[in-house]
Amino acid sequence: LKDGAVTSMISREQPDETSDGRTLLVLYGSESGNAQDVAERVGRDARRHHFKARVISMDAYDIATLIEEPLVIFVCSTSGQGVEPRNMTKLWKTLLRADLPVDLFDGMDFAVFGLGDSSYARYNWASKKLQRRLQSLGAREIWERGDADDQHYLGIDGAFDPWIDGLFRVLLAMYPLPPGVEVVPKDYLYPPRVRLEWVDSPELPLSNVPFSFPGSHPANLLRIRRLTRSDWYQDVRHIEFEFHDDVSYSPGDIAVLHPENDPDEVQHFMERMGWADVADRPFRALPNDLERPIPEDWPEVMTLRIAFTRYLDILGVPRRSFFESLVHFTADQLEIEKLQDFCSPEGQDDLYAYCHRVRRTIAEVLTEFRSVQIPQDYVFDVFPEIRPREFSIASSVKCHPRQVHLCVAIVQYKTRLKTPRKGVCTTWLTRLKEGDAVQIALEPGTMHLPPLPSTPILLVGPGTGVAPMRAFIEHRIQQEKSKENTLYFGCRSLDADCHYKEEWMAYQNKGQLVCRIAASRDQPRKVYVQNLIVEDAERVWRIVHEHKGYVLISGSSNKMPLAVRQAVEAVLTGEGKLSAEGAKEYVKRMEMSGRWQEECWS
Ligand code: NAP
Repeated sequence: LKDGAVTSMISREQPDETSDGRTLLVLYGSESGNAQDVAERVGRDARRHHFKARVISMDAYDIATLIEEPLVIFVCSTSGQGVEPRNMTKLWKTLLRADLPVDLFDGMDFAVFGLGDSSYARYNWASKKLQRRLQSLGAREIWERGDADDQHYLGIDGAFDPWIDGLFRVLLAMYPLPPGVEVVPKDYLYPPRVRLEWVDSPELPLSNVPFSFPGSHPANLLRIRRLTRSDWYQDVRHIEFEFHDDVSYSPGDIAVLHPENDPDEVQHFMERMGWADVADRPFRALPNDLERPIPEDWPEVMTLRIAFTRYLDILGVPRRSFFESLVHFTADQLEIEKLQDFCSPEGQDDLYAYCHRVRRTIAEVLTEFRSVQIPQDYVFDVFPEIRPREFSIASSVKCHPRQVHLCVAIVQYKTRLKTPRKGVCTTWLTRLKEGDAVQIALEPGTMHLPPLPSTPILLVGPGTGVAPMRAFIEHRIQQEKSKENTLYFGCRSLDADCHYKEEWMAYQNKGQLVCRIAASRDQPRKVYVQNLIVEDAERVWRIVHEHKGYVLISGSSNKMPLAVRQAVEAVLTGEGKLSAEGAKEYVKRMEMSGRWQEECWS
């Protein structure tokens, strides 16, 4: 490494001149944050190779300017049954327009990295579709598509490491480095994104700093009640929020919430880091690296407690990049060796066993690597941001003006580590008291009711997958002329976890809903929603075929959606005398026309 190259990389006053003409855009479509993390790693590697890289979520990017981009790396995940991430939908719809010329992107070079799970038939569907569409619009693929697979024992890294090495081999051949300039080594420590300027004023309590995030509206917790029986092993809650002002949303839409870390966990963490004395001392985070600013909506003046309560994640499972940063901040030789092992290709099994298998948290890792001391200026570089969480809205705004209701399973589980694990967001929700202030953003979902209320609907929503179904049903019963609302709900036991049973029964008694409940464990043999669909062949055939109804499915993305599809195909072959192939085609056509919609999460 030549000193000159590094100096020009690290100094704000002297930008990396080597990167003139070497610009790269990384666009990501991410559902759970993994694709975003991969995109950021591509951005970091681009920077080491002296490219000016922008890493942007697909829905935050101005699509009109895509034709001007010379080099774009797309990273996108596929969930469950081949569904693209929500923040890719806008871009994808634009790319699908039939009037686009075939040479639209003939000035663009691109590569695609997909993330998915090969146990699904439509493995990495979104990235494959994107790759084909870009090619058909004239873009030139410069490196073969990478396919990360959840089934791979090394997780994303198993596919990402060789893919990124290959990509930059190609890029260096296309954009050779000027003589004397070399690639910045992987373990090079860049200067921090910000510099903390301590403010000479008294302590700043969390409650004095207002919180919001882009698109969010102020609301208060109205009420929260447990839906599952008090002694039942699953804790599922019905939660109601009331907005300060009128809001509008459609059935099928999503509520986005930003959780806070548990105050006790934050306090322990402050003590471990030796920051307890300064935790509430205000500081300004001054920009130190203009290419990597911190988000604009973060407060100008905050404290370490505020940063680690609202913005920075300490309770998630750390990614490899976290360990890469820690190497810089310990002097203990044994720790350095262990961290270097975790970051090496050979150490990926160890890293997996240490972190992922037991879901060890960032805070726990830091209690074990005792000599690691992170300079406070680096906290915004080392710790990932707390991710916002999305929930299907379980209410219709027509029935509950200014409110959203959620149906949420409180996440709590055990791993081989003794400490029970808790979901950050759902634990935060259970800590909220009536009247507490929150911010909620409302975003479009992917499922929609038929345009005409007279079109019958067949809803399938086992477990908490029933959340959006409650919104659809509430909306439909407000509509005049709404006909035939049928719900297939699955629970384990009628008297333990049959969410909203009284509401369904009340609608059914008024003739507004037909509710079919599969209580899987109330009899010796399991009964699932798909069994009831086959049992109800005549009704299902009438809704699906004779009345051209809509089928909407939500719940676990595991085996249920495919089983429901097969059940409806069985009805089509039985009642409609279609061949097995014909039935499959029939459902596919329903899907193409929007009459079959699935929104399933794992
Ligand atoms: P769950 O695990 O889906 O269980 C609900 C019922 O489904 C149980 O009776 C269960 O029976 C049964 N079931 C198990 N395997 C099945 C299969 N192959 N086919 C049909 N039914 C099956 O319910 P949950 O614990 O409430 O979890 C809900 C899931 O939905 C979560 O994964 C959550 O992320 C997802 N979700 C998605 C959305 C959305 O996409 N909009 C919204 C909310 C929730 P047994 O346990 O007795 O086998």
